[in-house]
Amino acid sequence: MKRFLFTLVVACLALTPGASVAVAQGGELQLLLSKSMGFSLGNQIQGSFDIAVSGPADITSVTYMIDGTEMATVTQAPFRYSFSTDSYAAGQHHFSATAMTASGQTLKSNVIDVEMVTLSAGLQATTRIIGPILGILLVVIVVMVALQVLPMRRNRRRFEQGGVRNYGVAGGAICPKCGRPFARSIFGLNMFTGKLERCPYCGKWSITRSASIEALRAAEQAEVEGAQPAVREMTAEERLRQQIEESRLSR
Ligand SMILES: [Zn+2]
Repeated sequence: MKRFLFTLVVACLALTPGASVAVAQGGELQLLLSKSMGFSLGNQIQGSFDIAVSGPADITSVTYMIDGTEMATVTQAPFRYSFSTDSYAAGQHHFSATAMTASGQTLKSNVIDVEMVTLSAGLQATTRIIGPILGILLVVIVVMVALQVLPMRRNRRRFEQGGVRNYGVAGGAICPKCGRPFARSIFGLNMFTGKLERCPYCGKWSITRSASIEALRAAEQAEVEGAQPAVREMTAEERLRQQIEESRLSR
């Protein structure tokens, strides 16, 4: 369980946009690398990143370097520079910066070492973390669905239409597909807005909510009415249509 939680935390950190990747001590000038969009785990990075420095208030320009080669010189506060790892070859790289101050000092920053990975490698690493979590979820879903489907075979048509019934501990729900009331399974998979359940009458899956006893009784009553052949007066329109049909036939 501890290991699972740890993995979850790492996964969240890796997926959080804007998370600070590396902050290392570099004397007066500190180099900061932060993710704006992409992947970062340990010293592996992929995507869009911001590089910045923190240092004296009188900095006038900052030159950022990758592997000793200038990336950019920024002369406006906050001296931030955005780049994409796609602009560089995959593999090991190191970032550094030099800053000029108004008082004529030249400051050198610490070095940040990274390993730029390809998009697919980044996705693979993410999948390695997310994969087991999704796997566990999938197993939970399969078990919950099985727990609902298996007893259903036995319970199918246990209640005749219109029977007043007991809905048990989980209460009853009304199928949005066929309108018939059924007992909710205690194993129903919670889907935030309701439980994912299979209607024992029409066999369709839907997200159900617990219905009030009044609504359930009304649905039972509707079943009784639905089971009986409709006996009602023809409407004026239907009568007229019938007369037209008859006059056509007699012609
Ligand atoms: Zn149904």
